[in-house]
Amino acid sequence: MRGYWVVFWVVGFCVMASAGPLAAADAPASAYHSARRAYFALKKDSARQRYRHHWFNVIRRFEKISENFPEHSLAARALYTEAELWKGLYSVSRRREDLREALSSYELVELNHPGSRFADDALWQRAHIFESRLKRAPEAAYELLDLLRRYPQGDMAPRAREAVRKLGEVPPRAPPDRRSTQRAFRRGRPREQSGRSRVLKFRHWSNDSYSRVAVYLDGATEIDTGTVKPDPAGSLPARIFIDILNSSLAPDFEEPVKVNDRLLGRLRVAQRDDGGVRLALDLKDAAVDHRILVMENPFRVLIDAYGGTRELGESLETDLPRAVRRVVLDPGHGGHDAGAGGAGGHSEKEVVLQITKRVQAYLLREGVEVVLTRDADRFVSLEERTAIANRSGADAFVSIHANSHSDPDVSGIETYYLNVTDDQYSNRLAALENSTSPEPPTDVRLALSDLAVRVNTPESKRLATGIQTSLVALSTRGNRGIRDLGVKSALFYVLLGVQMPSALVETSFISNPREARLLSTVGYQAQLASAIAEGILDHFSSLGEE
Ligand code: ZN
Repeated sequence: MRGYWVVFWVVGFCVMASAGPLAAADAPASAYHSARRAYFALKKDSARQRYRHHWFNVIRRFEKISENFPEHSLAARALYTEAELWKGLYSVSRRREDLREALSSYELVELNHPGSRFADDALWQRAHIFESRLKRAPEAAYELLDLLRRYPQGDMAPRAREAVRKLGEVPPRAPPDRRSTQRAFRRGRPREQSGRSRVLKFRHWSNDSYSRVAVYLDGATEIDTGTVKPDPAGSLPARIFIDILNSSLAPDFEEPVKVNDRLLGRLRVAQRDDGGVRLALDLKDAAVDHRILVMENPFRVLIDAYGGTRELGESLETDLPRAVRRVVLDPGHGGHDAGAGGAGGHSEKEVVLQITKRVQAYLLREGVEVVLTRDADRFVSLEERTAIANRSGADAFVSIHANSHSDPDVSGIETYYLNVTDDQYSNRLAALENSTSPEPPTDVRLALSDLAVRVNTPESKRLATGIQTSLVALSTRGNRGIRDLGVKSALFYVLLGVQMPSALVETSFISNPREARLLSTVGYQAQLASAIAEGILDHFSSLGEE
């Protein structure tokens, strides 16, 4: 089955707009034009601009139009003008609260009128406020990427692209207000085969500050996701909902797991009349941060929730150093997933397990705690590996693989950290390791604009560099003439959402006859293992020095 390459975010979203009372057909229009006249009068009158109530009067007039006539063609324009007014008021008052009102009004434009020509302008305005007024470049980057994702053909797109380029390496961060709003995104993709996708089963992993729920389906479909604010009157908690369109519960469907951990409450599943399945997941606290990822082969929806003391994006370096470091080692593949086939009949899954166990032994001798995602020849899904890592609260995550290429002459060692890349070679490799086909990513940057999947990028790059440097030094010491293919980045699913510095090592090419032979020898395995371990230890000691 053909799979798409990357996490899906796009396609559109639905918004719940309450129908306002219907008035005479032209009432909203005449109210709008009258409000507009008041707006221009205020704009010209600098004396009146000095009094807040003059601003409030005009703001209220626009507000009424957008609230009472949300379906009217002028509603978006009215809301946008309201945002402009708040911004105008801020330029006089310099009060932060006015700027906050402007930000949330712009957000409402995009939220309630996603198709309108004001939507992308509103996102642009938000980015501008974050960058030039609040000096919060990461939030500006988030807004710009959001703009490009949703309105790639819009008239604001060229400007946004240029602005993103200027921001350079700034890691995007979702503004706090963008998370509190009730909204829905559509992701996934329409089912290719006829008939419905079936919901097969659930899995759940958690610790005190992390929880992951996985929902497995037998085929691709679209999903709508969103959050609902708590309702104190009905004593309903905040919850996440996921509507799996065009789907049904499989006849042998396993009852949903009982979630109920520190972050998440009850999980409910219901077949809907409109031919879809709805999941509702209670949040223990409305402030619980969560992310939803869609992956393919098999098609599954992952809900990650984060909480606890550590702020997302904050690196471990800011924590007090722990007496004993802990590492999660992840030998790639296993069970029915053999990984790459070797030139000498050895499979990747066997070789990497042997190397990993040697890394483990080496680190244990150095007093480092080690958690393995598998210690035998068994299948572990990519999302479970990530969950094991996060649950362990480790300081580093290292996934160990053997490389493969259709050209048997290709050889060498390379180490990856999670990021997007335009490099076709890296994309092909990631697709291989992700068990997806290398479809060109439509907007890969967006998957990573999400803070939750992008945490620790600089630390991960350093960890990868430390391991690669150590590997190259050892292989030249042994005078084996192994090629240094360098440190690279790609979108590996197994690293996606890992809450600690992480790297993926491609130890050597199992498709290269010489390296395949080496990989099967105890000597080379031990050499690779000690080099990987030293790279990890170097990384830890460099943290201690800063
Ligand atoms: Zn692999």
